[in-house]
Amino acid sequence: MPMKVRFWGTRGSLSAPLTAAQVRDKVLRALEATRGLALPANDRDLPAFIEQHLPFPLRATCGGNTACVQLDSGGPQYVLFDAGTGIRDFAHHHRITRAQVTRPSLPGLATFHIFLSHLHWDHVQGLPFFYPLFFPDSRVIFYGGHDNIEQAVRQQFSAPSFPVPYDTLRAKIEYRRIVPGEPIEVAGLRVSAAAQNHPGGSFGYRCERDGKVFVYSTDCEHKPPAALAPDYPLLDLYADADLLVFDAMYSLAEASYSKADWGHSSNVQGVELGARARVKRLALFHHDPHQGDAELEAVLFNTRMYVEMYYQDKGRKLPGTQKFPAEVLLAYDGLEVEI
Ligand SMILES: [Zn+2]
Ligand SMILES: [Zn+2]
Repeated sequence: MPMKVRFWGTRGSLSAPLTAAQVRDKVLRALEATRGLALPANDRDLPAFIEQHLPFPLRATCGGNTACVQLDSGGPQYVLFDAGTGIRDFAHHHRITRAQVTRPSLPGLATFHIFLSHLHWDHVQGLPFFYPLFFPDSRVIFYGGHDNIEQAVRQQFSAPSFPVPYDTLRAKIEYRRIVPGEPIEVAGLRVSAAAQNHPGGSFGYRCERDGKVFVYSTDCEHKPPAALAPDYPLLDLYADADLLVFDAMYSLAEASYSKADWGHSSNVQGVELGARARVKRLALFHHDPHQGDAELEAVLFNTRMYVEMYYQDKGRKLPGTQKFPAEVLLAYDGLEVEI
């Protein structure tokens, strides 16, 4: 059975919902783009018309939620990476209500495995609105490499920031430390972690099942010369991934100069590391809240161009037309990718 990756939150640092003026601008430009075209007479044909005539930034948006990604392996338990504001949409979408988690005919449904890359606010701020924490028959297990995860989660439920105290949560909550180099089995997945370069430290996760590999690697600054070395440890984390979720928050210039040491990377570094690790699909992730949809679409275009440029160097030519990453995606809230 294939695994599905669902993106519930793709922004970094801060949520970034669209304003009324931005929505109006999309409508305006969509009308301009379709001026003179005959609209389909049948409502059923309208979605295809939109897909055909309107580019992504006009017909959609990357969304504004902060980091949360689900790996659906087809089993009854839920596996999530990070708990930014996207985790509220995850729970809402699955209609995870108290009645559902307490229904005995659905054993195991109430277990949620949440892997935290780190404890910065954009990766935990959705927790006060993650309803399963309030239900007595749900089980929530937090995993991470930091030793103060429980303290950080408790802080999300503390006055004066939030009115409901942690000790009133009804779910069975557990905390498990994950150690790089010591893989664990979770919900039928083999999960390993690697330490990443980020202020306060962060962890990337590699999940394997039936020969398929999903890697979640956000909030990581790939800094030369370490990142250029043949034995750069994160190459092992990324090796042969079917999908790599990659922190491409900044441009290369920002990541290298104006925002050096802020703990993030660029699309260019995603391509280069993806090529070296033979990654099949690269998903650009942790979008800067300042970036609009048109700018992000331009980043995607340039990234795809850079994959071509990377292989124009004869020394990097692979047999035939094979390239890594074979495909570059722009992660957006609501995107589903099958691996
Ligand atoms: Zn972040
Ligand atoms: Zn961070």
